[in-house]
Amino acid sequence: MLNLEKSAAAFAEAKKLMPGGVNSPVRSYASVDCNPPFIARAEGDKIYDIDGNEYIDYVGSWGPMVVGHAHPQVVKALQEAATRGTSYGAPTCIESELAKLVMQVYPSIEVIRMVNSGTEATMSALRLARGYTGREKIVKFIGCYHGHSDSLLVNAGSGMATFGVPSSPGVTKGTAQDTISVPYNDAEAITKVMDEIGDEIAAVIVEPVAGNMGCVPPKQGYLRTLRSLTEKHGALLIFDEVMCGFRASLGGAQAAYGITPDITCLGKIIGGGLPVAAYGGRRDIMQKVSPAGPVYQAGTLSGNPLAMTAGLETLKIITAEPEEGKADYSRELTLKTKKLLLGWQEKAKEAGVTIQAHQAGSMFGIFFNDNDVFDYEDSCASDQEAFKVWFKAMLEQGIYLAPSQFETLFMSGAHSDEDIDRTIEASAAAFQAVADSRK
Ligand SMILES: *Cc1c(COP(=O)(O)O)cnc(C)c1O
Repeated sequence: MLNLEKSAAAFAEAKKLMPGGVNSPVRSYASVDCNPPFIARAEGDKIYDIDGNEYIDYVGSWGPMVVGHAHPQVVKALQEAATRGTSYGAPTCIESELAKLVMQVYPSIEVIRMVNSGTEATMSALRLARGYTGREKIVKFIGCYHGHSDSLLVNAGSGMATFGVPSSPGVTKGTAQDTISVPYNDAEAITKVMDEIGDEIAAVIVEPVAGNMGCVPPKQGYLRTLRSLTEKHGALLIFDEVMCGFRASLGGAQAAYGITPDITCLGKIIGGGLPVAAYGGRRDIMQKVSPAGPVYQAGTLSGNPLAMTAGLETLKIITAEPEEGKADYSRELTLKTKKLLLGWQEKAKEAGVTIQAHQAGSMFGIFFNDNDVFDYEDSCASDQEAFKVWFKAMLEQGIYLAPSQFETLFMSGAHSDEDIDRTIEASAAAFQAVADSRK
């Protein structure tokens, strides 16, 4: 049995200090009825708790740790940067360096603004879309999460789905009214909305690969439909690639599916584990942002030198030319992910458990459904009890997964073949536990 004695004591203390003992809800493990391990350190693909347990980590801080934890190149650059001071609140060259590197990979971004969190990026992108179009309503998709700003905290998947909150108290009716929620992956539903009130819509915001209702890639042609509908009705198309950026492919979902959005939001990986996010897009739109234009947005710590350094080093690693005869970084991650999922599918089948395995580059996940999962409703129909049994059995065997069916898992460059094999082996017992629990 996994010994989590010290973690349990630390959690009891934390609960007196912070709401639910945590600074972000899903960390509390409330949905899987057990105490969360308290983390002492992490290195490569491993994470270690204060009881001395070691786990192979597929959470990767919920996405950012694409090169693994404490990568020597990132650590060294951060140590050097820290000796030069941790914040100036003034322009630096490293901001331009990171901006240029991002634009090389995301040609749809002609001008970029750095912020501190994905929440800020999407919130600012919406304000910009409203300011640019002079329209007030926005469309989002049910089960897509875009951070916790008021207008986006409507039908927002993941943490809220896990805790069964359809929309949060504190979000005013007025705010919620301007947000129209439509089922994801349903071309008919969005076409109907746009045909009815398209001329009132400032922007359609979407996770082009959904990652907050579990991992749910778009149906063939779906993103193209969004592109043509927004163009037809003069609304902006915002791709929230905070999670799928640098993961669905190096160039994100927009490169993987060949669709150019008007505005892109990035986060997670772009900060290499420090708080960075960004929004950017067409020059004529971005020039409306203050001080170039009238749409106000600011940040005391935006473009912070340590954060820019972590992001820049991380992006340097994943965009580097591959060695002779090797696939590039993101292709390697895709192949590793494929291998892991094939292994899981085989073990599930041997145990007689039906699963749906989904992958988009280095994002992945499984659902305990008999039929495939295309939207939030399907995702909610996944067998939550089976998920709980599976999650706990994996944790017991030293495999650290997200403690909710509505989250996505992540592969990193630090995951070795050996550890992936170990993860596949562990899944055999976990799927068997699911089968036994259903007897
Ligand atoms: C994580 C996430 C956000 C919010 O980012 P924070 O940094 O947590 O504020 C927004 N959109 C998507 C798609 C995300 O996955």
